Amino acid sequence: MVLSILIKMEEKSAQCPYCWEMQYFEIDPSIAEQEYVEDCQVCCHPILIRVAVGFENIDLQTAKESDGF
Ligand SMILES: [Zn+2]
Repeated sequence: MVLSILIKMEEKSAQCPYCWEMQYFEIDPSIAEQEYVEDCQVCCHPILIRVAVGFENIDLQTAKESDGF
């Protein structure tokens, strides 16, 4: 028998700071503050993502990796 821990991933949308296309990001709500880089699915530029997980909502900000927050 395999024990697995299920983490419910939240999906959040935000605009790419390069091409302004809507992107969907999978957020792990068990981590309160996260900052990472993910390539845009449309233009492939590196998007800097900052996530703040609150009690009722998840705040997601995006910026160009070269600019930072
Ligand atoms: Zn893009």
